[in-house]
Amino acid sequence: MKGTVSFIPKARTIEFFEYDLPEVAEGAILAEVSRTNVCGSEVHMWRGEFGKRGVMPGHEMVGRVYKLGKGVTHDTAGQPLKEGDRIAPVYYETCGTCVNCRAGNAAACVVLGIRARRVGPHDPPHFHTPFATHYYIHPGQHVYKVPDNVPDHAASAANCALSEVFFGLDQASLSYEETLVVQGAGGLGLHAMAVAKARGARVIAIDGVDLRLQRARAFGADEIVDMREYTDTRARVGRVRELTAGLGADVVLEVAGVPQAFLEAINLVRNGGRVVEIGNISLGLTVEVPPALITFKSPQIIGVATYNPHYLHKALNFLSAHMETYPYHEMVDAEFPLEQAGEAMEKSDRKEITRASLLP
Ligand SMILES: [Zn+2]
Ligand SMILES: [Zn+2]
Repeated sequence: MKGTVSFIPKARTIEFFEYDLPEVAEGAILAEVSRTNVCGSEVHMWRGEFGKRGVMPGHEMVGRVYKLGKGVTHDTAGQPLKEGDRIAPVYYETCGTCVNCRAGNAAACVVLGIRARRVGPHDPPHFHTPFATHYYIHPGQHVYKVPDNVPDHAASAANCALSEVFFGLDQASLSYEETLVVQGAGGLGLHAMAVAKARGARVIAIDGVDLRLQRARAFGADEIVDMREYTDTRARVGRVRELTAGLGADVVLEVAGVPQAFLEAINLVRNGGRVVEIGNISLGLTVEVPPALITFKSPQIIGVATYNPHYLHKALNFLSAHMETYPYHEMVDAEFPLEQAGEAMEKSDRKEITRASLLP
């Protein structure tokens, strides 16, 4: 039997390749992709921001066990696993032994292996990323069964958006009664709002698109700062200060993904507060930051690119507990067949849609 994988060789181009399904090694799993999302990273890939070598797209997925390698009987949390079970894998591997893994910060693993960055579709076992019909899960890669009450549309974002902001808010120790500003009410931002509300924080959402602001309210935002009303940093900082007794936010989460938002985050946070930087992932994009601002405000700046892999299990459990509380079904607002992945990324880039899913 054959399957299909995809590759982005240059900006705004996607290619598809067919391969025989690979042999499944001892300890590995071959999954059939049920649903995979166009995340911000894929939009950056589509724009050609990931370099000249090209890149294999896809990382947010939910699927079913197609074939278990020898010796695989349970998921990483110890739940029994069989062929056909719904699963979500962590899309990278951590080493467990480097200086950061040993210190409990596997998200900053110094040899963190995102295979998609190192391999191409021609390298076996070919099915390296989930913009594909199948996905190969290597021995030691975390994989978790999806709770029965969590539908695919919600589970598909768990291994990126939700796990990452969950981990980021933990890194910032966001706690009860603190104020969180979320810059950007896209997928990451909405998940963060739900997690922040669950721990008793107050949420201020910043965005400038009606639908995204409506969703922010639905996902628990207590206050909205509409960028069409507060049109520059000065106005937004002023508004957030008004809403926080003149202080600024305890924690600011940057998930807008533009360099200017990082500078604004440092302006929005209170003296001694915490800034969690997640949204900016293109090394070529810059902003001028006056270092004295960091000296005088003394915020902690916390960069989060991934998460400790066991957070995927926490994320799936969070969804299971909050499926009825938040309109997760609204988070994915467009569905495409795999062959139309290019169109899905193009429309996402033009912000005509918020979160697209591919259904291979
Ligand atoms: Zn490591
Ligand atoms: Zn993602």
